[in-house]
Amino acid sequence: MCQGREEVIYSEHLPEHFGENVFSLKAMKEFLSPKAYASIEKTIKEGGKLDVSIADEVAEGMKKWAISKGATHFTHWFQPMTGVTAEKHDSFISWDGNGGVVLNFSGKELIQGEPDASSFPSGGLRATFQARGYTGWDPSSPAFIKEGPDATTLCIPTFYIGYHGEALDKKTPLLRSMVALSKQVCRLADLFGTDTKGKRAYCTLGPEQEYFLIDKAHYEARLDLVQTGRTLFGRKPAKHQQQEDHYFGAIKPRIMGFMEDLDRTLWGLGIPSKTRHNEVAPAQYEMAPIFEELNMAVDHNMIVMEVMRQIADKHGLVCLLHEKPFAGINGSGKHNNWSVVGPDGKNWLYPGKTPHDNAKFLALLCAVIKGVDTYADLLRVTVASAGNDHRLGANEAPPAIVSIFLGDQLTDIIEQIEKGGAKTSKVGGVLRVGVDALPELAKDTTDRNRSSTFAFTGAKFEFRAVGSNMNPSAANMVLNTIVAEAVSDICDQLESDKKSGKDFNVSLQKVLQEIIKKHKKVVFNGDNYTPEWNAEAKKRGLPNLRNTPEALEAIKLKKNIQVLVKHGVLTEVEIASRYEINKHAYTTVLVLEGECAATIARTQLIPAAIEYQNQLAQTIKVVGSSGKTIGQKRLLKLVSLFIDNALSEVDDLEEALAKHDTAKIFAGMSKLRESIDELEGLVPSNIWPLPSYAEILLLNA
Ligand code: ADP
Ligand code: MG
Repeated sequence: MCQGREEVIYSEHLPEHFGENVFSLKAMKEFLSPKAYASIEKTIKEGGKLDVSIADEVAEGMKKWAISKGATHFTHWFQPMTGVTAEKHDSFISWDGNGGVVLNFSGKELIQGEPDASSFPSGGLRATFQARGYTGWDPSSPAFIKEGPDATTLCIPTFYIGYHGEALDKKTPLLRSMVALSKQVCRLADLFGTDTKGKRAYCTLGPEQEYFLIDKAHYEARLDLVQTGRTLFGRKPAKHQQQEDHYFGAIKPRIMGFMEDLDRTLWGLGIPSKTRHNEVAPAQYEMAPIFEELNMAVDHNMIVMEVMRQIADKHGLVCLLHEKPFAGINGSGKHNNWSVVGPDGKNWLYPGKTPHDNAKFLALLCAVIKGVDTYADLLRVTVASAGNDHRLGANEAPPAIVSIFLGDQLTDIIEQIEKGGAKTSKVGGVLRVGVDALPELAKDTTDRNRSSTFAFTGAKFEFRAVGSNMNPSAANMVLNTIVAEAVSDICDQLESDKKSGKDFNVSLQKVLQEIIKKHKKVVFNGDNYTPEWNAEAKKRGLPNLRNTPEALEAIKLKKNIQVLVKHGVLTEVEIASRYEINKHAYTTVLVLEGECAATIARTQLIPAAIEYQNQLAQTIKVVGSSGKTIGQKRLLKLVSLFIDNALSEVDDLEEALAKHDTAKIFAGMSKLRESIDELEGLVPSNIWPLPSYAEILLLNA
């Protein structure tokens, strides 16, 4: 070590590094006047309206802070309907009047932007010539600095709307749904006698993010991965996940390097990355943050996905966020841990030690049950995508049927409510290890259920059908709305009972009892992966929308449109546009994948197989009668058969592609894949032009 140089220990300084690239309250305090600071703090903490008169000062402070971090540009960062984030950079420069420049950033530029937005999907909301779209600052999610290798940019989270105020993005309806839920939960809180004046309710979200990491060289050698994010061909390797040795296994050093770099970058951005581990499939991993307020957590999740891709690249790796990059091997999801904090500042989904007498908890629990049962199909729509279709129901992910897991304790309580009133709560007890010297462990009141779509997990619900690659806002927007609707129904009844002088507890018990009677059919605590559950769900009348085209039709149902419109989350026109956008996105992916599969088969894989066919034919000819060639002939026959099949299957696929027939494209790709994967098992690996699953998955570090 050089003399005088002190070793800086990162961990000792982690708290200071946390959020260093965020225009946080701490940074604001330093860069704003006390008056401006107090005003913006109130807006952020209480969710009120922004005081426009301080915008110039906030912008000036934000600019100074950003420049101190090396930023030359700012951008309104938003989430159009493309599924990824968007940004258009402007530098801070403006003329100083003497031929030079000064660095400026006005309140107007902070609050409102107007990107020429004709190329973003609007689902028919606007014609291309109607290009105006506005981005507006969302002060509830802080501005941050994005550091690239060569450039630093100030990013300002914004919502994005059209000329007539129509939502063109994913954030606007999410914010609206949060207002709707807050309104109804406060109404309920009022009935419980909670002081709600000037207060609001909000949701919390902790999205667990699954992903794959593979070597960049393998990625670049596969056109399917490069173009579609998933492999369109590939035989399952001999070793995959059957030995269950990857899940929670020791993390390999190269991957650890990635994870540490990821965590430090995220911490700098104020993103509370908490947990990292190996997942079930080889080369699959997970990151989970500490939960945050919903809107911020969604923004953060979008940043997490972007940072994961960038950091992977730095380490010579590629991060695959597709829901099913490898057929036959576990796919990736995003477990959406969601809860509600009431105006009393408490988590209303925290059952406490005796949930049977926790009336707020039981009321919200029943509202969730009612909401999810009534709008299971609408919830299903929010997780429908071409990528997630390969995962849902594929025996490692929840099925396309939406059901709720409650566990023993809560199931017992709702059964008591149904019978007339909850009097007791089952207790967890202790776990005995069987070794005297070891301490006893507290036992949870219920076991976990990994197979449920929508599981109660302690003090939150976990919606597990969300795809790894998705913006989680749609799922949460619907969740907020349907729970707001159920809470609103409960309040209607309770308020009218109150007017007629009925006892509150008696009327609450009656309302909840009715909900349980009607909606308990959505509760299922068994194994969701079995065919028996499929049959049982059908008997119970639960919707089973097996793929995206089927699921999307549910958007058009009257009840689903009504609930979104009633709570001011989406207008009828906005709903129709979202249907069009999703449908178009699905077709686009299928056509792209189909074309990619046909090209790879025609120009890479079938030619490789023909080369081998030729080698075999030559060998048989050369050996002639001087040796035995029965085996080679059998092999040649087999190779020829699969080549022949593959050739006619490519023809079929191309025919389906010409017609944009998505069902036939889907079926055509699967059929072609079968023949090609057979060929991969026969053709020598040195001729096969694509890296195999075994190489990609097992040699990533
Ligand atoms: P589990 O292991 O049961 O899934 P964890 O405590 O590991 O639960 O949490 C998983 C994720 O759920 C984390 O991202 C965590 O922050 C989040 N989470 C925990 N409590 C809440 C809550 N009240 N609201 C939202 N998310 C939560
Ligand atoms: Mg979990």
